[in-house]
Parts: sequence; C-alpha cells; structure tokens
Amino acid sequence: MTQLSQRMVELGTAKSEIREAFAFAQARAAEIGPENVDDFSIGNPSVPAPDTVAQMVHQLVDTVDPIQLHGYTPAQGDGAVRQALADDLNRRYGTAYDPDCFYLTAGAAGALCCVLSALGCPGDVFLTFAPYFPEYKVFVESAGGTLTAVPANLEDFQIDFAALEAALSPQVKGIIINSPNNPTGVVYSEATIRKLAQMLTAKSQEYGHPIWLISDEPYREIVYQAEPLPWVPSYYTNTLVCYSYSKSLSLPGQRIGYVLVPRTAEDFDLVYAAVCGAGRALGYVCAPSLFQLVVANCAGQTADIAVYRKNRDLLLTALREMGYTCAQPEGAFYLFPRSLEPDAKAFCRRAQKYDLVLVPGDSFGCPGHVRISYCVPTEQIQRALPKFRKLAEEYRR
Ligand code: PLP
Repeated sequence: MTQLSQRMVELGTAKSEIREAFAFAQARAAEIGPENVDDFSIGNPSVPAPDTVAQMVHQLVDTVDPIQLHGYTPAQGDGAVRQALADDLNRRYGTAYDPDCFYLTAGAAGALCCVLSALGCPGDVFLTFAPYFPEYKVFVESAGGTLTAVPANLEDFQIDFAALEAALSPQVKGIIINSPNNPTGVVYSEATIRKLAQMLTAKSQEYGHPIWLISDEPYREIVYQAEPLPWVPSYYTNTLVCYSYSKSLSLPGQRIGYVLVPRTAEDFDLVYAAVCGAGRALGYVCAPSLFQLVVANCAGQTADIAVYRKNRDLLLTALREMGYTCAQPEGAFYLFPRSLEPDAKAFCRRAQKYDLVLVPGDSFGCPGHVRISYCVPTEQIQRALPKFRKLAEEYRR
C-alpha cells in the first residue's frame, strides 16, 4: 500500500461541521425544494461584485495583450498592482507603504499560510481568541506550530486581557486576530487594539523577541458602525496584515488577496524575504494575473453592503425580541447567538427539523453558541423568522 501522509489523509477526510450543515441543506433542498430550506451555514457573499469589476474584466480582456494578461507575473505580484494597493492604503490610512511591502496571494487563506510558514518554527506557539475561524488550526499546524485559543469574553467578544496575559509565554511567536470577526461579527474597538498593542509591546520586551500580530482582515470594509475601524499596524509595529477581496468585492472564487509587511516591522527585509520564501515553498506564487489587475483598479471599493446591514438589523432585532441573546455585531455577515440549550449541536439538530440550518459554535472553539451566516437574500430571513420563533417556543414549553 502507498505510504501517505497520515496528517493529510486525516485533514482530507475529517468532517467539517460547516460543510456538513451545508451538505444537509443541499440534500434537503433537492428533496423538498430550496424555497423550503433556510440555509445559514456558509459565508459565501450574497451580493454581486460591484459593476466596476465586470467592466474592468471586459476592458482588460478587450485591450490587454492576452499573452501578458494571462501570463506569469513576478512571484510576489505585478509591481504596478502592488503600487496601486499601496496607494489605496496610504490614501485611506495616511501610511507610507511601497510596492515591496506586499506579497499577492490566493485569498486570505494563502496569505495566512505564507505568514505562518514564514514565522513558524517547530515548537512555536500561536494564540488566537475563541471563537475563531477553524482553518487557523490547520494553517498553524501545517507551519509546524501549535495553536492555543484564548477563552472568549462571552459578553461582548472583545479580548479578555486577563486570559491573554495568562496564555502568553516566551514560546508565543504570534497572535492571530480577526476583526470584523467570523463567527461573531464583532469589531475590536480602538481601546481593545490599543491595549493589545501595549501588552504585546511590553511582553516582547520582556521575552526579548517580537510577538507578531497577524491581522486577518477579509471583512475589513464590511462594517456597520460609524467609527472607523482602527488600522492595526498604526498601533502595533510588528503587525502582518492578511487581506482578501473575497468578501469586500464578493470575489471568493477568484482567490486574490495579499500579505502586507510594514517596512517599520522588526527585521523587515528578513520577514518580507521569508514571506516570499514561504510563497515559493508552498507553490503560492504569481497570484491570479487577471484579478491582480482587477483589484488594482477596484481597491477600496466594496460590494453593496447595505443588504448585509438590512439583514443584520432584521435578524438581530427579531431574535432578541424572541429571547435569543446575541452580542452586537458591527461587521462581517455573521451573528453568534447563544444556543437555547448548552449543547449547541443538539440545538442545531432541533433547528434542522424546521429545515433551518445553523452551525454549532463548537466548530469555532466556542460551545453553547451557534453561527448564523446572514449573507443570504433578505426574503430568506423573513421566511426563516417564524422558524426561529417556533424553535424558541419549544424551549419555553
Ligand atoms: N479568515 C477568515 C476569518 C474567514 O472567514 C475566511 C473565509 O471565510 C478566510 C480567512 C479565508 O478567506 P479567503 O477566501 O480569502 O481565502
């Protein structure tokens, strides 16, 4: 029998609760019709990319030499594209980035893998905050590290600094944060980012090596609050930004994003070189060339997030009226209410009796909660509200 990597076989066969819930919804839709199934399982944007994306694709296909358009770019991405991305951030955040701070990748997943492989040495510990995007564990372990989840602050899902301090040690190489957050929709306040920066600065000094802050930001532009989102590298120098256009421009299938290494980061030259080296070792070179050019021309734009806001308001208000407890989501397109019984998996099974498909928080390292992805047509939410109500009534009886 062929010897295979046991770890890869396990990863390829392990069940993901998100995928399982989605598969259940698909199977039920085939059986009873999609109009009878309310699937809130996956985070696939439900609003189309802005018109400028299609216009740009047409314009590029019509005007650029196809050999060049579909050809290899430099490994880290086209220089003019990286300049455009730097210009966009510099305009928005008053920064001074240049093209050689960027490494273009296949989405945020590719960016995270490059950063973690660049930083990760065997024995390194990375921290994140529960609840968290489940792939972090896969990415960190693939890079040779281990992931520890700092317990959640269940009231508002801001950082529990006492728990963070208890989890910090000289073995900690980096911390992954994700604001706006999947699965809670919560946005870290400026006070949270400032306090995090202070704690990491002090601990880096104490340990004699930097603790890297890996800011995973695919939802950066999907924000509903009036206050602007704090730009993390402006608060903490040793921040590495992992960005993607999957959600902001509704382009998840085009696989385009980037790593940003600020020039002010410690050992910038080495860190940027290691990111490029990780891209090379992982085979993540020359991100999709057509969409490099598209995002260069559409950077800073967003799909129509008004629909998400409407969905959030409708669902959050109704759920709270029905007695569900849910932290205030100010971004992304997820709600993370408490399940109505301690076992969120059992709660999701009950919801499935109504063909209401939710994901248990256990998948995100936070039992007792469920994730609702509200990137769906608003009519689906209207149709699902009576189901949420009946479910709540079952528990009151
Ligand atoms: N990080 C978070 C928090 C996500 O929610 C996702 C996708 O849902 C990713 C990273 C991966 O994004 P991408 O599709 O850009 O690889």
